[in-house]
Amino acid sequence: MDKQLTLALAGNPNSGKTTMYNALTGARQRVGNYPGVTVEHREGDARHNGQDLTIVDLPGTYSLTAYTPEELVARDYIVERRPHAVVNIVDATSLERNLYLSLQFMELGVPVVIALNMMDAVRKQGKEIDTALLSKLLGLPVVETVARTGDGKHALLEEAIRFSGEKQGQWEPLTISYGPDLDPVIHQMETVIEKHDFLTGRAPSRWVAIKFLENDEQVVKMGARQDAETTATLTKMTEDVARHCRSTLKISPESLIADYRYGYIASLMKEGVVRAVRPQARLQLSDQLDKVLTQQFMGPAIMIGILYTIFYATFTLGEIPMGWVENFFSWFSGLATSILPEGMLQSMVVDGIIGGVGGVLGFVPLIMVMFMMIAFLEDSGYMARMAYMMDRVMRAFGLHGSSVMPFIVSGGIAGGCAVPGVMATRTLRSPKEKLATVLTAPFMCCGAKVPVIILISAAFFDNSASVMFWTVIGGWVAALLVAKLLRSTVIKGESTPFVMELPPYRMPTLKGLLIHTWERAWSYIKKAGTVILGISILIWAMMTFPGLPETKVADYEAQRTTAESTLSAEGLEQRLSELNNLESQEALRYSVAGKIGTAMESVTQFAGFDWRTNIALVGGFAAKEVIVSTLGTAYSLGEVDAEETEGLSKRLAADPTWSVATAVALLVFVMLYAPCFVTVVVIARETSWKWATFSVVFNTGFAFALSVIAYQFTRAVMGG
Ligand code: GDP
Ligand code: MG
Repeated sequence: MDKQLTLALAGNPNSGKTTMYNALTGARQRVGNYPGVTVEHREGDARHNGQDLTIVDLPGTYSLTAYTPEELVARDYIVERRPHAVVNIVDATSLERNLYLSLQFMELGVPVVIALNMMDAVRKQGKEIDTALLSKLLGLPVVETVARTGDGKHALLEEAIRFSGEKQGQWEPLTISYGPDLDPVIHQMETVIEKHDFLTGRAPSRWVAIKFLENDEQVVKMGARQDAETTATLTKMTEDVARHCRSTLKISPESLIADYRYGYIASLMKEGVVRAVRPQARLQLSDQLDKVLTQQFMGPAIMIGILYTIFYATFTLGEIPMGWVENFFSWFSGLATSILPEGMLQSMVVDGIIGGVGGVLGFVPLIMVMFMMIAFLEDSGYMARMAYMMDRVMRAFGLHGSSVMPFIVSGGIAGGCAVPGVMATRTLRSPKEKLATVLTAPFMCCGAKVPVIILISAAFFDNSASVMFWTVIGGWVAALLVAKLLRSTVIKGESTPFVMELPPYRMPTLKGLLIHTWERAWSYIKKAGTVILGISILIWAMMTFPGLPETKVADYEAQRTTAESTLSAEGLEQRLSELNNLESQEALRYSVAGKIGTAMESVTQFAGFDWRTNIALVGGFAAKEVIVSTLGTAYSLGEVDAEETEGLSKRLAADPTWSVATAVALLVFVMLYAPCFVTVVVIARETSWKWATFSVVFNTGFAFALSVIAYQFTRAVMGG
């Protein structure tokens, strides 16, 4: 203990910093706030148990964004001089307001020790603070003090010395989630910042990104001096997201950030840190609502009810426009057939493109209805409550409260995407809990699985909403059980405490809802027009070539000639169309894809999957929508009758190789098998290729085992 340690006292104005400074250094200085007199910091010496200390009294601030000279001085001192620890003097009589600053120190990453000052006043108010709980939730030492009498000052120094010794000058920034609007942008900005080594010598990259979003003039100016180009890029990103936030949420990024910080603190308070305090008037309505909506028993019941209502409304409201779109595509396919000359091109356009991409696009109206309702949950702040309620459940399965958001983003309510879902796991501090979340989030019902579920339920079940509901629930059950399995075997370890962000409720604006809905629907449409289109053509080619050998073609030709010479006009027509169908069926089976699919049947038959489904599932690894487009192409190629313009679901229902058991098995398999290719890459980036490979192999094996069970069981029960 020979090295001089520097401790910086920081906190809100009037929290008692100077009083504490005097108590620690023994200096005789006047206590009091003279606004504008000085924004310089003062330094004094102290000694504790043989350890020499430099104590710095920083000016009082409410935040660390450069809005005032005080804030600049305090921040510059911490960032440039890097004290061994910040001793954050907190006025415990208004804990929530004061913790707002503490949170910002934590986001910066500097080691922080919290002094809960004015504890005498707190006790006088008849309140109690659970210091141990607060310390556990924040992950840093918390000491009760009364600066005026010097109470607790020794314990404070003790903890500060111990904690800074433990941290060894390492900064560990806290990552707070700023919600679905800002998180992806912050992440992109971080990537830019890290790539250009932008201001990172001083502060964590995430912190720099957030400062840009908060329009911190000093950081922007400093950045412009160092690297004008990167500054321009970041400013542009900031402006874009600011415009987006204003038009959808009617709020600036700064206020949104502040909301999430207060939300973070509010939920921390909810854990029971203080008994009987409610200082923030703004949050009172939210609190009233939360009394009902997150109540222990009523809350989950309401949540399940809302979930079911969403699916029910999706199908009842979405059915009508979906019919229009389906009719449009049949008309379009008829038109293409009549315009294009018979042959390869016609087949590619009608069977490959319209049959494949059209099948995927047919679900746009339904998906938009559902996205709209989910956007309502998101924009209103209810989604955060769902996460809050799920926290206890998550913990029971070895996950973390912060795992809920990645799950929901991945499609926890249906319609998300595992790619941002996996990225959202960055808010998890424990690597093991993060890994468990990354590996189980792909079991959620992402937007690409939705059309598969709709297709299957329309073909084989009466109540599509119920099917959707139970499929989504099934995804959760599988995710939780697998998480539990992983956490008790390959990724065993302690669970970490959790604080959940609860932003205040807000009435969503219609414009905001429309924009959010459209954004998602558009990315779905765009994907159908690009990736899915490409894969559809590829799969069409695989299903078309090499074509039947000449002897076979000649054989069919001979049969036709025989029919023509022996049958009457009426019987002839029927016989000819029968022969045509048989021929194209056989050609399909003879194609590259047909052979691959057929070879797989020896295994997949136990789950009831025939060769067409096999191809669809293999294609689904590229993107799950491909399952629908591939089945569309296969069934369109397999039948040449121009009359059959009915939808794919009717074709499936009419196919004798399909049954309810096949449908159930397919639903199970699609929900659980390997994540799509892009997700696998993201998993590798967030963890390692080892775990990415694991998720492909394990999920597929797990999915197959369960779908075999589902198939055999359903068949036994239904007697089929
Ligand atoms: P600073 O400007 O933020 O450093 O705060 P000061 O040290 O100037 O303190 C502000 C006021 O709070 C002064 O009147 C102090 O006497 C009072 N004060 C400081 N610490 C305590 C404490 O622990 N209990 C009580 N009741 N008052 C305190
Ligand atoms: Mg002072």
